[in-house]
Amino acid sequence: MSTFKNPLLKNAVESIQIGLKDYQDIDKDPRRKLSSTRNVYAGVLLLYKYKLQQLSQVNSNELLLKEHYTSKNNTKTEFNKLIEIGKGKTTVNVKQIKEYFESFKISIDTELLDSLREVRNNIEHYYTELKDNDVKEVITKVFHLIYQFCHYIEHEPDMLLGQDYWKIMLNVSTIYDEERQKCLENLKTVSWEYEQVRNSINKLRCPNCYSELILAVDVHKKEDSDICCKACGKTSTYKDMIGSSIANALNCYYEIATGVEESQTGLCPMCFYDSYSLVEKRCLACHYSLGYEECKICYEKLTLDEIVFEGLCSDCAYKIETIRNE
Ligand SMILES: [Zn+2]
Ligand SMILES: [Zn+2]
Ligand SMILES: [Zn+2]
Repeated sequence: MSTFKNPLLKNAVESIQIGLKDYQDIDKDPRRKLSSTRNVYAGVLLLYKYKLQQLSQVNSNELLLKEHYTSKNNTKTEFNKLIEIGKGKTTVNVKQIKEYFESFKISIDTELLDSLREVRNNIEHYYTELKDNDVKEVITKVFHLIYQFCHYIEHEPDMLLGQDYWKIMLNVSTIYDEERQKCLENLKTVSWEYEQVRNSINKLRCPNCYSELILAVDVHKKEDSDICCKACGKTSTYKDMIGSSIANALNCYYEIATGVEESQTGLCPMCFYDSYSLVEKRCLACHYSLGYEECKICYEKLTLDEIVFEGLCSDCAYKIETIRNE
């Protein structure tokens, strides 16, 4: 299911994946709440252990990962110095994980972790008959633990879990909101060429799936950066993203501000998207510019519909047409 070579990380991810699938099916089959809590809890702990393994020094026999440790003569240094190394097969317990994380300044919501364990124990031993919704709520919150922990292990959550499982997580509204916030922060740092685009960033969408969870692949790029979608995983070009969504975005704002329904863009004769801006006098998607703003004959300002007359207003274009036909 997952392609990670590190067995700890691989097991962690697969546990969480199974837990996510179970979570999705809780409504259909309430028995899934046990397997979901169990798998999610196991997955989170494995993820934590993976981090401790990464933090352990080389040649320390994974010191931080092991419950017990022993001292050993460090033969590599001149002095007789004892170093601590991991001992045995048992791995750290939850209490130790919390202590290590505290000293490494890795913040995790330990209360939440405890409540998940409690839920798991309760269902396992039938102490109380927990409501499906209560269980779901706790699991949902733990998805947050996972989501937030991703940055400590330097993985993007969508890449870590895989698209299918990431989607289940995204369906949890709070995670969606957080991810959306991240995307907007990214879009805000892009140096957009046009003010109209800069003002519409929260209305831009993925041309492939129409999700708003999009971000610029390279925010520092001077020219148009490719756009990556965090919902469907597809990458698209600046041109296709702007071309397919800018008209809607601009018209939406214009209508809200003025109450008038009037198109703010016209069909670009170059890229054929509805993205030609009369304000910028060029296409916001492909940057093509017609090079004329007013009628060559009567100097009347051209409207968007008159783009097709190649520099003439519709009146003059009509007059010329009739003269030609006479
Ligand atoms: Zn998409
Ligand atoms: Zn264009
Ligand atoms: Zn004219």
